[in-house]
Amino acid sequence: MPRSHVAARTSVFTESVIREMTRLAMLHGAMNLAQGYPDFPAPDFIKRAAVEAINADINQYAITWGSPRLRRAIADKTKRFYGLDFDPDREITVTCGATEAMMAVLLAVVEPGDEVIVFEPFYENYVPDAAMSGAKLVFVTLKGAGFRFDPAELRAAFSSKTRAIIVNTPNNPSGKVFTRDELTQVAALCQEFDCLAITDEIYEHILYDGRQHIPMATLPGMYDRTVTISGLSKTFSVTGWRLGYVLAPPVLSEPIRKVHDFLTVGAPAPLQEAGAVAIEQSDSYYPGLRKMYQEKRAQLLTALRESGFGCHVPEGAYYIMADFTALGFEGDDAAFARHLIEKVGVAPVPGSSFYRSKEAGSHFVRFTFSKSQETLAEAAKRLAGM
Ligand code: GLN
Repeated sequence: MPRSHVAARTSVFTESVIREMTRLAMLHGAMNLAQGYPDFPAPDFIKRAAVEAINADINQYAITWGSPRLRRAIADKTKRFYGLDFDPDREITVTCGATEAMMAVLLAVVEPGDEVIVFEPFYENYVPDAAMSGAKLVFVTLKGAGFRFDPAELRAAFSSKTRAIIVNTPNNPSGKVFTRDELTQVAALCQEFDCLAITDEIYEHILYDGRQHIPMATLPGMYDRTVTISGLSKTFSVTGWRLGYVLAPPVLSEPIRKVHDFLTVGAPAPLQEAGAVAIEQSDSYYPGLRKMYQEKRAQLLTALRESGFGCHVPEGAYYIMADFTALGFEGDDAAFARHLIEKVGVAPVPGSSFYRSKEAGSHFVRFTFSKSQETLAEAAKRLAGM
C-alpha cells in the first residue's frame, strides 16, 4: 500500500454542504436560499467607515487581539445591552469571523479525547471544529415542533469527561431561541460537572415577536465558565468582512489569544475600524434590523406554507427548517434539494447536514430568508409553480 499523505483528521468531515449548495445554485441559476448571507447591500454608514479607514491608511496589521477602538466598542455595547463587564484589554479577542473564534476556542480549551456536548440539529462547522481540535462530540437532540430538549437526556450527556457544551442561541438551523429556563438548566449542569459553556451568539440581534436575547454569561455563576462568541457578519450584513469576537475571563482569553495569534494574526484592520464605528452608532439600527427580518420571515413562511411545506416559525436567526413530507416527493433530503435546485430553481440546504444520522434530517430542508424581497418573491413564484 502506498503511504497516505493525508492526515486522518480530515477524513471525518466533508466539504461544507452549505457552500456546495451555493455552487450548485450558481451553476443552475437557482435562487440561493441555501447559504445564510444577505444578497442586499450592507448599510451605508458601515461601508463609508470602511472606505474612510482605508483612506486614512489603516492598512497594516491591527493589534492581534483586535483594534483598541473595536474592543472598546464591543465592551461598551456588551455592558449597555446585557450589563456584562468585559475588560477590552484582557477579555476581548477579535477574530476572523465567529468561525475562527469557535476553532480557536476549541483548540485553546479542549484536550484531545475530551467530550463536548452539542445540540442537534447543529450548525455544520461544529463537526470539523471538533475533529480538528480532537474533541469527541456528544449529541443531544432537540425534538418536536418547538425543538426542545429532554432534561433527562441532557443530564445523561454530561459526565466527568465533559469539557464543554456548545450553545447556539438564536439557533441555526432551527430558529430556536433558548428560554431562560432552558439556559438555567444548562448552566446548572455546567456548574455541577465543572465544565464550560461555549456560546455561539452570532444572531443575538435577530429575534422576533419582541423576544430578548439572554447571554449565558449573564446567568448566576456563569461568567467564569462561559466563552461567548459573536460577531458583526449577520448584524451588519457584512459576512465577507470576517469580523468575529470572543468574550472570556482572562484565564481563558489568554490561551484563546495565543491560538488566534498563530492561526490568523488578526482580522482585517480597516474593517475593524469600520466595525467599531458601526457598533458605536448602532443602538438605533437594531430595531430596524429586527423589523426587516420579521417581514422577510413572514414572506418566506407564507410562500413555503402555500407550497405545502410544514414549517416551525423561527423565534430568531434567519432560517426555516421546512418539512417536505406533505409534498409526497420520493427520495431523501439530498435528492429533494437537488430537485429544487435543478427543476424548480430554488436552492435549500439538505436537512441531514445538521444531524449526525442521515435519517434524522431526511424530511427537512433549510431555507434562509436573509435575501432581498425580490429574491424571496421570485423564489415564492418558482415554489408555487412546483
Ligand atoms: N452561517 C451561514 C449559514 O449557515 C453561512 C455558512 C458559511 O458558509 N459560513 O448558511
